[in-house]
Amino acid sequence: MKSVIVVGAGIWGSSLALRLAETGWRVTLVEQHTPGHVRQSSAGETRLLRCAHGQDDWYASLAWRARDGWRALGERVGEPLYLESGMVWFAQQADGWERASSAVLERLGIPHSLLGPDEGTRFFPDFSGEGLEFLMWEPYAGVIRARRATQLTARLAVQEGVELVRGRAEPHGDAVAVDGEVMRADRVVWACGAWSAALFPDLPLAVTKQDTVHFAVPPAWNGIPAWVDYGASAYGHGDVDGVGMKTTSDAEGLPYEPETGARVIDQASLDVASSYLARRFPSLAGSAPLFTQVCQYSLTPDAEWIIHERSPGVWVLGGDSGHGFKHAPALAAYVATILEGEQEPEKRFGLHERVPTRGLRTSGMTT
Ligand SMILES: Cc1cc2nc3c(=O)[nH]c(=O)nc-3n(C[C@H](O)[C@H](O)[C@H](O)COP(=O)(O)OP(=O)(O)OC[C@H]3O[C@@H](n4cnc5c(N)ncnc54)[C@H](O)[C@@H]3O)c2cc1C
Repeated sequence: MKSVIVVGAGIWGSSLALRLAETGWRVTLVEQHTPGHVRQSSAGETRLLRCAHGQDDWYASLAWRARDGWRALGERVGEPLYLESGMVWFAQQADGWERASSAVLERLGIPHSLLGPDEGTRFFPDFSGEGLEFLMWEPYAGVIRARRATQLTARLAVQEGVELVRGRAEPHGDAVAVDGEVMRADRVVWACGAWSAALFPDLPLAVTKQDTVHFAVPPAWNGIPAWVDYGASAYGHGDVDGVGMKTTSDAEGLPYEPETGARVIDQASLDVASSYLARRFPSLAGSAPLFTQVCQYSLTPDAEWIIHERSPGVWVLGGDSGHGFKHAPALAAYVATILEGEQEPEKRFGLHERVPTRGLRTSGMTT
């Protein structure tokens, strides 16, 4: 039986462990805390699923496949993990990122439509289209209950035979040392999120603090779609599980240490979120923050991920660049084929020199 050690039980490592266990591998999953612990990037209350990725069709197709994965996972565990609220894109430019996304979605046959800014009131109780050229509606986009999905994916992996080992892993040649004990397998995958930057300092990774804010809003706002203003690096969605309406920024924050950094949001993040809320949804001006959360991005310069074989059989899966959650079930299937030797990873995921770009994230603002 082929064996693999996956280090890191965030959504990437847990989904991969589950996938490999289901396809005949003996899997050991090593996690320093508990799956779904609050310092993980995967432990945000919610994460968006969208297919629009600017002019890139690889990630658009992957997200479309991942949607099936989330729905199937929800059915399997008996609770909905993916809430298909739809998503409205607020396009500030007539021929910018959203137009490029629309062309790709059209080519891939992924449903969407373009609307005038005044049609925003179809989706939101109150809406200002100020500064917008058009809206793009993605009806099958939505919101994933992220932390819950991470916990359940890891639990399912264990039910499928994965051995979950609690401990801090360190590279030991081609093996893995967990709190002093050396473990070996046919393959090793380091899926350590933001911790990868310290484990493998040669990787092109920057870790940044990201603050999220949810506001207390009237009940009429609970069922709204998710929304993204790429030009303003702002996004959000309606209430999920009682934590309020998310309105927050995708612009990258200050450098951050994932294990010890303070889990308190900055006043500036709250101010930015409040002011965007008031501008786009005027009747919500002055809404009180209900829930806040600190998380971290693990950014590559071009927002392309890292899927790299460091030495024979030893892989790094990281650099999610703030847009990796939604893809997890489909990414796990893709990485499994690589570990099986059925295909090489796309060149884009390698350690070549990367040219800074922004098109894959929902953040069009340069900082
Ligand atoms: C504020 C914010 C908003 C986001 N919004 C979206 C969104 O809307 N849509 C989307 O698709 N994505 C989004 N993302 C990105 C998404 O959350 C990440 O892509 C995803 O969670 C990455 O998962 P991961 O498993 O790689 O990392 P993590 O979830 O961080 O997991 C890594 C795990 O590895 C463990 N670990 C690390 N080192 C060791 C070690 N040495 N030994 C043992 N265990 C170790 C850690 O404890 C941790 O549990 C967002 C991220 C943030 C921060």
